[in-house]
Amino acid sequence: MPSIEVKDLSLSFGAVHVLRKMNITVEDGEFLVLLGPSGCGKSTLLNCLAGLLDVSDGQIWIKGKNVTWEEPKDRGIGMVFQSYALYPQMTVRGNLSFGLKNKRMPKAEVESRVARAAEILQIEPLLDRKPGALSGGQRQRVAIGRALVRDVDVFLFDEPLSNLDAKLRSELRVEIKRLHQKLENTMVYVTHDQIEALTLADRIAVMRGGIIQQLAGPKEIYNKPANLFVAGFIGSPA
Ligand code: ADP
Ligand code: MG
Repeated sequence: MPSIEVKDLSLSFGAVHVLRKMNITVEDGEFLVLLGPSGCGKSTLLNCLAGLLDVSDGQIWIKGKNVTWEEPKDRGIGMVFQSYALYPQMTVRGNLSFGLKNKRMPKAEVESRVARAAEILQIEPLLDRKPGALSGGQRQRVAIGRALVRDVDVFLFDEPLSNLDAKLRSELRVEIKRLHQKLENTMVYVTHDQIEALTLADRIAVMRGGIIQQLAGPKEIYNKPANLFVAGFIGSPA
């Protein structure tokens, strides 16, 4: 069973058509990258998957269930945004456990999930600090940790590294790849950075103007771009 199925999905803001009849199938455990220039509809698509935006037409299925009109919390997904959106007054531990406590999860279970996420992301020494005392890279690790503790099937990332400097970006890229290999869950990762897409993805969907131009593995996208736009954007030899 595929992890995510997007069927003829369209979304318009008034007269502006942002997504046009999109069809995507994401396999279980796949790392799919949505790649395209600013304004092509990547975040809009991700927000539809997360349930943060209502679609105009079409359907979204997750794990064989039509979730098009389900609440975000009932979709079994975790989302990591470009800006970290941590609670500044809470410690890292508090930020990680906040969503779980709301679910009335037993204290021991909350603690063990926080400990596991902290270990995986190597942020154990930071648990008692507040976000203001962390670097950008550390904050983004905590933001990833908040999705991790929820034990979701599907991770959605919206340009999680674009606020970081080049060195941190490549470090965290390796980290995210490692995380995917360890968890083996489905990841949909939005970026406008070709290198990020080529190094992380099992498959890449190249988007332009709300339409998928090509959906294929990195090698095929690079060596056999479907059209001039894909070739130009990915920087393939002409
Ligand atoms: P990307 O993430 O690829 O940069 P977005 O999905 O954020 O692109 O935006 C796609 C298009 O939709 C852009 O032209 C943007 O201006 C427009 N858009 C996004 N959100 C809204 C909104 N809430 N109202 C109107 N237009 C929007
Ligand atoms: Mg965006």
